[in-house]
Amino acid sequence: MAETDPRSRRVVAPGVRWLRFPRRLESEYREYQCLEAVASFRVNAFYILVLYMILVSGIYALAPEAVRGLWLGTYIWVGIIVMIAGILAQFRSLDHYFPVYAGIGSFLAVMLSMAIPGFLDEPGSVQLANVSVIYALVIVYAMVGLRFPVATLACWAGGLLGWLIAEQFGRGIDWQIAHRTYTGISLLGMFLCYTEEVRGRLLFFNQRQLLRQQLRTQSLADRLHRLSREDSLTGLANRRYFDEALDREWRRCQRSQQPLTVMLVDVDRFKAYNDHYGHLQGDACLRSLADELGRYSRRGGDLVARFGGEEFVLLYPGVDETEAVRLASRLCRSVRALGIPHAHNPASEEVTISVGVAVKGPGDKLSALQLLDAADRALYQAKQGGRDNWRLYEPPPTVRLVSDNGPRKKED
Ligand code: GH3
Ligand code: MG
Ligand code: MG
Repeated sequence: MAETDPRSRRVVAPGVRWLRFPRRLESEYREYQCLEAVASFRVNAFYILVLYMILVSGIYALAPEAVRGLWLGTYIWVGIIVMIAGILAQFRSLDHYFPVYAGIGSFLAVMLSMAIPGFLDEPGSVQLANVSVIYALVIVYAMVGLRFPVATLACWAGGLLGWLIAEQFGRGIDWQIAHRTYTGISLLGMFLCYTEEVRGRLLFFNQRQLLRQQLRTQSLADRLHRLSREDSLTGLANRRYFDEALDREWRRCQRSQQPLTVMLVDVDRFKAYNDHYGHLQGDACLRSLADELGRYSRRGGDLVARFGGEEFVLLYPGVDETEAVRLASRLCRSVRALGIPHAHNPASEEVTISVGVAVKGPGDKLSALQLLDAADRALYQAKQGGRDNWRLYEPPPTVRLVSDNGPRKKED
């Protein structure tokens, strides 16, 4: 199938062939490339030095006695350049300057390697010296980790200056040999360096796409998770989340022998409020009440949720009767103190609430559902008691509490 075929999902990376991404991506890539390159150069510098030692020892063995001193005296500088670059690479604070010092080092190494053959007489040693040009170019293009334009500039500019020095102070350069070494290897090196950079850019682009996809999926999952727990009008926890929390806290309080309080809050005469002020105003009123009630969630397990319609529910693990009634009384007062006008509220001129409180003590045998039903019954009593007040549920001693078949029907 087309969707499962990875080729059909291939993303075209912009500007890879021209070694240039769109501007922001390009600067991200350069940063990434620079840090990757310096990290591998920290190790590669050692191998480059080993290669260099092999070259020097070969030259020492093959070079005529008379020019050995000159050879070593000159090539020692290439070794010093590699060593300095290797040492600088160990300082992480200089990581961002890697293209600068590695570029300058490459330029100097190529320049020296290119100039030396121009100062030699004996044909055998000239050929040997040209081998060292091959070394220098292969190392710069393939092992230093410079980007293609930087490596190309360092090698061609170094070669040009080396040639000018040889022309000026030496005996010039044998171009027949130079083309077979310097020019040929430069073109090969450029090709290798270019294909390597294209590969690196594609890898970077794909990694970045993957990361973006992951982040997007993660943020969608987070959003979905939040929406499944949140009430869209008030931003409080929704009924589903409350049900889970009630179940969890009930078990926890049961285990730790702690009291558990549930309060059901119902807005007084809210139908009349809607009829008088309109539903949108009604929604705004519910949001203000939710903000106020939200302030009553004070500790870890506390929860304030929208129960449904104009009803809210508060859950307080570890809160006993004394504290619960104190809280309920404060709730009624602070909602009234909001001073939201309500022209058709017989209890007050402002919006008020009634609160039903139920507390499960450590020894009580109430299920979570029975506790909720008890709060509902207490709320009914608060309504009966004239609204704008609270009631604590007290079970009648002889009557069986309720079944788990759902709350009793309320009358008004
Ligand atoms: P009581 O004092 O007995 O609680 O009277 P009440 O009018 O509040 O009770 P009732 O259950 O008859 O009315 C509840 C009203 O709440 C009815 C409904 O229009 C309103 N309501 C429920 N959900 C929303 C809501 O999301 N937005 C608005 N604006 N109103 C809502
Ligand atoms: Mg209601
Ligand atoms: Mg109501």
